[in-house]
Amino acid sequence: MDSSAAFLLFGIQLMLFQAIKGSAEWGYYQRGVPPSFWHCLEGNAMCISKRQSPVDIKTKDVVKNNRIVPFDFSDLEDTERVKMEMRNNGHAVIIDFPDRQPLIKRGGLQEPLQLNELHFHWGSNSQWGSEHTINGHRYAMEVHFDFVTTGNGPVELRAVISVLIYAGKHNSNYDEIVSMLPYIPSAGSKIVLDKFPVIDLFPESTNCWYRYCGSFTTPPCTENIIWTIFEQSISMSEYQINAFRTLMGTPSMFEYNIVDTFRPIQPLWQRKVTLSCPRRRNYENYRRFESNDRCINHVFRRGKSQNTYSQSTSRSDNSVCLWVNFYYQNHVDEP
Ligand SMILES: [Zn+2]
Repeated sequence: MDSSAAFLLFGIQLMLFQAIKGSAEWGYYQRGVPPSFWHCLEGNAMCISKRQSPVDIKTKDVVKNNRIVPFDFSDLEDTERVKMEMRNNGHAVIIDFPDRQPLIKRGGLQEPLQLNELHFHWGSNSQWGSEHTINGHRYAMEVHFDFVTTGNGPVELRAVISVLIYAGKHNSNYDEIVSMLPYIPSAGSKIVLDKFPVIDLFPESTNCWYRYCGSFTTPPCTENIIWTIFEQSISMSEYQINAFRTLMGTPSMFEYNIVDTFRPIQPLWQRKVTLSCPRRRNYENYRRFESNDRCINHVFRRGKSQNTYSQSTSRSDNSVCLWVNFYYQNHVDEP
């Protein structure tokens, strides 16, 4: 290599180095770093590890597990003390519980867990939109109910309950939410909802659910989530779903409206999805079975695992990431 070539190479490297010092931002399929390169962004190495979400649930491969105690959702029926605030954060509709976070118990989870927030994922049309798929079928929407431990359980462990939504009949249980969407047209806007029982947002039957150990479906893709996906889905009308599609997104992620906010399906690798349909009988009969040790153990080993994941990024992956960071850093501010 002659000196001018070496100088040129040095210049390119310097340019790349300066570029990645800035912050490219994650996105979905319009603007920002797309899901397949999220792991390239600083702090997001876990996005390519082996317990990621969402997944495709193949019903022929699920393992039946009825040795789990049924859920106790009685606190979600409280309408009086549960204040709900709905906001547009630029890539999702989120409902927060500022005064009192309702609790859930049992269902094989560490208890009690409190409802931190719930949020929605949707598509640009009703052929897609959900994050989890069943036998490859993608639903029009998905609601995630994000639960956190109240302090006694393992600190980092979380649980998400998911409801899949298909386009069909009008669903009056979602009327309050849908009717207030016009009041949160753009990122940062929020509105207080009239009170209604949170349990109404669940399917009529909550007896059967799929479960597996997974992650957040957005960066940093942290692998500390016990996923519960109700087997029964619910409907919303096209009119109702369209109300979500009219919301404006943050310009770093969307050209105009918030649409197609689902991460692609992640491989299951060694994981199994279970299906539980516990019968309602004396809870004491279930006591000794009630546990999700495998998810919990994984979370406690996380420190070690995180290093392994970072080191597993291959050399070719590193150069791809260098380019990704350079490219998206320089396209962030385009109109
Ligand atoms: Zn979500």
